[in-house]
Formats: sequence, C-alpha cells, structure tokens
Amino acid sequence: MKKIFIYVICEIASLTLAMTFLCNLCSAKGRINVVTSTEDLADLIKVVGGEKVNVVSLSKGSQDPHYVEPRPSMVILLKKADMVVRIGMDLDIWVDSLIAASRNSRIIYGAVGYVDTSVGLERLEIPTGKIDGSMGDIHIYGNPHYWLDPENAKVITKNVLNGLAKLSRGAPTYFENNRTEYLKKLEAKINALQEKLKPYKGTKIVTYHNSWPYFAKRFGLGIVGFVEPKPGIPPNPSHIAALIEKMKKEKVKIIVVEPYFSQKAPKTIASETGTKIVILLPSVDEKKGIKTFIDLFEYNINKLIDALKLQSAN
Ligand SMILES: [Zn+2]
Repeated sequence: MKKIFIYVICEIASLTLAMTFLCNLCSAKGRINVVTSTEDLADLIKVVGGEKVNVVSLSKGSQDPHYVEPRPSMVILLKKADMVVRIGMDLDIWVDSLIAASRNSRIIYGAVGYVDTSVGLERLEIPTGKIDGSMGDIHIYGNPHYWLDPENAKVITKNVLNGLAKLSRGAPTYFENNRTEYLKKLEAKINALQEKLKPYKGTKIVTYHNSWPYFAKRFGLGIVGFVEPKPGIPPNPSHIAALIEKMKKEKVKIIVVEPYFSQKAPKTIASETGTKIVILLPSVDEKKGIKTFIDLFEYNINKLIDALKLQSAN
C-alpha cells in the first residue's frame, strides 16, 4: 500500500514537472526575446512589450555601465536573442564584442533586431575640436548618461517601439498603447518630483563622475565640478585641492557619488568643505529594491531632498 502511495506521488510529481516545463515552453513561444545592456532599458522594454516580450539585462544596476566584464553566459543569452537594446554613444561599448561572439545575424548593427536607444536624442556635451587620449575617457558622441533625465524615456521607448513593431510584423497598437499609458504615468511622476525639489532649485553640487548633467538639467541643479579630474581618471591631490577651493567659493552643498566609486576622496573633500556625500543610484537595481525606472527617480530625489534638508538645518 505504502509502495503504491509513493508511486502515485512520484507520478504526480513528474507529471507536474513535465507540465511546468511545457508551460514554460509555451509561454516563451511567440514572445520576442530581448537582451538589454542595462537594467534601466530592461524595465522600459517590459513596460512597452508587456506579455509579448521576455527581457533580460546583461549588466546589473550595481555595476559601472562603462566597464562590464564580458562573460560566456552573456554570449549564450545573445545567441538566443531576437533583439538587442543598448544605450549607445560608446557607453556600453563592451556589448560590441559580445554581439560579435554570439554570431547572431538578427542582432548585428543595422539588423531589425538592433536597437540603439540614443537615436533621435537631444545630446549634451558633444565635444568640439581635437580629441586625444589626454582628455580621459571622453565620449565623442556626447555625454551618454541620458537615461538620467526621465523625460528621455520618450526617446528610449520610441526606439524600442519601432524595433518591436518591426519584429512583431505589424500590429504595433498593443505596444503603442502600453507606451502612451506609461508616458502619462511617468509625466505625472516627473512633475511631482520637480515640484518637490522646487525649494532647492539652483542648488550647486559636485559629482564624482560626469554622469548627472541630464539629471541636473531636468531637476534644476547646478554642477560645478567633478571629483574625477577627467572622466575615468582617479582623483589626485592637486585636483582635490583646487576642487575644495572652488566648492568653498561656490558654496556647494552636496557631493553626488555612485555606489561603485571609492568614497575616500569624497570624504576628504566633504570634511574640508562641510558638504554632504549623497550616494545616488545611476540605474535601476533590483537587488536594492529599485525595480523600475520610476522607482529610480523617486529614490534619488528623496535621497537628495533628505540631504539638503539636513544641510539647511545645520
Ligand atoms: Zn561616463
């Protein structure tokens, strides 16, 4: 009796497993497999693509998006992808070698499944004049940290929409409706956050890397300098001394640092100038509970306001 009972349990278990496997297959079937370079893009694609897409990001929000170490698992993901979506403007340049290694002609530059979300963007800081190695990790197409202006979700999702519409062979209404609904929600959120930050308009800040010009422009902050002397170049004593002088003169209140940078130099600067270090997140970071693009801005603005309140109380 006991044997029969165990046999029946085993049969049910294996049947359930088989059904789960089959269901996973059928849910995956017909969906567009999208691979993105960052978690921010992954969230925006989920929003537009809804149940018609499977999305996975190659990098985590906790990583510096300029330097992501290519892994064989990433090549496997790209091999199966119908679409690759990237920030472009030389930020996620590490994606190029991965696309090449995947030998997937559906996602190479110029293919239907290749989406660069910076197309059509109003770019900031396009360098003029001669560019050479002494300028640090200069981005020749302009500053690529454009997703940090939430308004740029319009351009990002427009590029995504175009790509998905082509891949789904017509019938883009589903994606268009998702996008329109989302942009309405996002617009309301941006307005609310701008309103919240209004009393602090014009606040002067210093940032570690030059990641925040789009963010600062949208939310009315003034960036007066960087902890890095040049993009990608670590701080040195003479640069720190000059920055401290400038910050005292300009009455800077805040130093914005991303979680993956060392706080050593910012701490020295903060103690010399009486400023406050604020760790802002440059990307959606599932592990930190920042699951969506909207969460990201809500988190950053609230963090900034808390720090500014503390500063004005002192
Ligand atoms: Zn950068």
